[in-house]
Amino acid sequence: MAIKELTRMGNPVLRKVAKEYELSEVGSQSFLSLIEDLIDTMNENGGIGIAAPQIGISTQVAIIKLPEDSGRYSDVEASELFIIINPKIEVVDSEKQGFWEGCLSVPGLRGFVERPKKVKVTYFDKDATKKEIILEGFLSTVFQHELDHLFGKLYVDRITDLTKLSYEEEYLDYWIDSSN
Ligand code: ZN
Repeated sequence: MAIKELTRMGNPVLRKVAKEYELSEVGSQSFLSLIEDLIDTMNENGGIGIAAPQIGISTQVAIIKLPEDSGRYSDVEASELFIIINPKIEVVDSEKQGFWEGCLSVPGLRGFVERPKKVKVTYFDKDATKKEIILEGFLSTVFQHELDHLFGKLYVDRITDLTKLSYEEEYLDYWIDSSN
């Protein structure tokens, strides 16, 4: 078990396009420890997803797991553990939907971000098998958020109305009950 130090906004590693992961390395000891480190670091910090650049490794690997009942995000349906390697994302429905997002690399803040409602993601899983999924709802936003990390983007870049960038405490005081 290894909990890694999180990289935070301002660290250039979060602004780089990460290198594609070498697929022949999938299943190797170094791959398994990378996945384990991502899981441990995500769980330790109460996250629902984490990307390799967030532990300082500029490679295209991310994981997502929506828990049964996350303190940070209520009313969310649990998901399987997604292990996502070298993803490509395509917008299926460009109509926007908005959620309040947070990020382990931007601690203490929440921001309202509108993103395309429906996307198709093609990626390789933990067995290097190619997968394709269509995503809607909150999970679509979570995938877009995590995949952004592999391409040097943070959710704060996507906020169109900066009056909806808030400290967590003020978010709880003023915004949590508003849907937008
Ligand atoms: Zn993030």
